[in-house]
Amino acid sequence: MIRLNQTDYSKPQTKAKLHCANWVNGNCLGICFVKTNEDLEGYDVGHIIDKKYAGKPCVVETGDECPYFSEIVKKGIPEIKSIRGRK
Ligand code: SF4
Repeated sequence: MIRLNQTDYSKPQTKAKLHCANWVNGNCLGICFVKTNEDLEGYDVGHIIDKKYAGKPCVVETGDECPYFSEIVKKGIPEIKSIRGRK
């Protein structure tokens, strides 16, 4: 029997599941990066737990987007659609 991969890689839910480090079984860890100690030479990066998302279902699952998904996760997904037909 041949099993075909039915995963729709173009769906935002699939992208969150496969690429977001905060996604755990459909729920969000809520960890996000923040700039700290910004000055002329640059800035340090720290992290916080965002209570708006932590421990709750991933908002992408409901058709919404969080800032981490739109600003970090989506921009970091490699363009490999020409290789495997993914979007
Ligand atoms: S809400 Fe955002 S940060 Fe949390 S799991 Fe979903 S995509 Fe990732």
